[in-house]
Amino acid sequence: MPIVIKRSIEHSHVNVSKVEAGRISKAAAGYIFAPGTSILCGECAFVGEGGLCSDHPGPEQRVNLEKGSCNDWQDRRQGLVAGNNSRPWVQVAYIENNNGFGCRRCEHMDLEKHDCSVVDPNSPGDNPGKIDPYACCVFWEKDPKRGNWPESRFV
Ligand code: SF4
Ligand code: SF4
Repeated sequence: MPIVIKRSIEHSHVNVSKVEAGRISKAAAGYIFAPGTSILCGECAFVGEGGLCSDHPGPEQRVNLEKGSCNDWQDRRQGLVAGNNSRPWVQVAYIENNNGFGCRRCEHMDLEKHDCSVVDPNSPGDNPGKIDPYACCVFWEKDPKRGNWPESRFV
């Protein structure tokens, strides 16, 4: 997720009203498709020995592997990435959420229609013509109902 737009527990950082007229493209939203994950630090390529994240400096390397995530998340199943400890949490919008992230836990997601009120499903990128429940992007905001559901409730 390379675009630095804040994603936060308070959910007050993204001015969604600005994008309602024309939805954001998947590319601009940092849309990623990662089935089989919950976009958690424990599933991220930057986590090395000792469970530390090499993307961040100093004590911020100690991320929460079971609840944390940020806009720099990359799928560790595609290989590990050695960061240079240069990206502070505030820059990558590090946040924590019980059970993780993904469109299925986002308030902008219409699960039945595979659509999103923020990101254009027809823009170029993964999952042509739809927004997938197992994708995510930097505009993620916790859904008041599904936001903490475990994986078993989505099947
Ligand atoms: S804080 Fe970001 S870069 Fe670091 S392990 Fe978590 S998702 Fe990956
Ligand atoms: S549902 Fe949420 S996380 Fe998924 S693309 Fe839309 S804004 Fe991003």
